[in-house]
Amino acid sequence: MAAGLDAVRGQRGGPAAAYAPAVLRPTTALVCAAILVSGCSGGPGGPADPSSPPPTSGSPAAPAADDDEITESDFEAVAALLDVRAEALLGGDRRAFLATLDPGNRRLRRAQEQLFDNVQALPVDKLYYGFTDTGLVPADVRGDDPTMRPPVFEHLELTGVFAAPVANQVSMTFVERGDRWLVGHEDVDETFEAQVRPWFGVPIEAAGDDDLLVLTDRGADVGAEELLGSTREALAEAADVLDEDADRPLLVDATSNGLTFELSNASGEEAAAVSYSVGAADRKGEEPRARAGSVVKANPTDVEALVDNDTTLRHELAHFLLDGYGDTNPQWVTEGIAEYVGYAPGLLADSVASDDRLPRRIAGRDVELTPSGLWGNDPQLDYLTAHAFAEHLITTYGLDRYREMMDVFKRRARSSPVVFGEGIVDEVLRQVYGVGEREVARAGFALLEGLSD
Ligand SMILES: [Zn+2]
Repeated sequence: MAAGLDAVRGQRGGPAAAYAPAVLRPTTALVCAAILVSGCSGGPGGPADPSSPPPTSGSPAAPAADDDEITESDFEAVAALLDVRAEALLGGDRRAFLATLDPGNRRLRRAQEQLFDNVQALPVDKLYYGFTDTGLVPADVRGDDPTMRPPVFEHLELTGVFAAPVANQVSMTFVERGDRWLVGHEDVDETFEAQVRPWFGVPIEAAGDDDLLVLTDRGADVGAEELLGSTREALAEAADVLDEDADRPLLVDATSNGLTFELSNASGEEAAAVSYSVGAADRKGEEPRARAGSVVKANPTDVEALVDNDTTLRHELAHFLLDGYGDTNPQWVTEGIAEYVGYAPGLLADSVASDDRLPRRIAGRDVELTPSGLWGNDPQLDYLTAHAFAEHLITTYGLDRYREMMDVFKRRARSSPVVFGEGIVDEVLRQVYGVGEREVARAGFALLEGLSD
């Protein structure tokens, strides 16, 4: 975990603050990986990321054994099998679902029954599969029967939460027993990390209302109902600060299933939560389609902390509410306002440093708006300074002007290939605020120096 920096605590002249910037608390170090900060594209490797590298664990058109050439009719049989499987999952037909599995494989059966039960616990609207007629290297399946592993895409839409089925590439190997093709193996292949797939893995529980669905591991200390309540509250608070409508579809996934690397940043620190959007794809998973929905993925080990102190939840929900800026804005702009919302109604201006090392660290940092290329080198100070720049701009000029700045960055990125506002920060600040980047940086650092007064 991050070097302990429970650094800013207490609000001057008032009761001990209930708020502390999440980045400063080791248990909920809040670090958004670049792709997630932007809350933009689908998960890495997902269909919404057409630039994802080709699979390394397989080679195209590599059917099983030499003398067991996979033919068109084999692919058709697998397609029919997947239709039956989807139908059974949707209709809650356990028997029909189990009949699609290689019999006698207890491990496979247990894992697949868990998948079945999890899907039954969810409000699933649509579910279907697609694949291309190519082959990856099949997983080991008992015996010498023919096997194949085409790249299969699972498309699943959660009612009210997703606007379209989210597409995840899944790793399934099929085996031909007698004259029937069956599912012989399914596991998580990290080459094709799912965008979001909490239904595959350990048992889960769900709680939700019309457009908010919260998932936790079944039997977790903080259950889905409790997390739903905390999320609703944090969402209302964040929406209030931002003057946004809180009622829009969101999946909060606090299960242990799927997605682990996305909860770490470049420095290897774990995040308590990250927010991002997920995408749909065409049936075969070849072309990205519409955006499917928004996800906050919470680290299951930090859920208790999220509920006890929802600074982090509000931070992530601010990203969710301010969706659409992607990497068009400098990180200090998007993370700064998320920190501001997370800490509200607390202000850095009313806070004091409780960590003696903080002033020296701040003094040793260049007085500048963190350049995008340096973002993430020192997460604690990156987030803290971003918070200070944002707080200065918002409390001095208002939230509307800040949003205007974000819109200007976004428009500029549309008309020219600018990423993270590189090279135009000073210009945009002068246009929107009439002050340059050095002045904003100095004002932010003055706020931080005030923490040790
Ligand atoms: Zn963030």
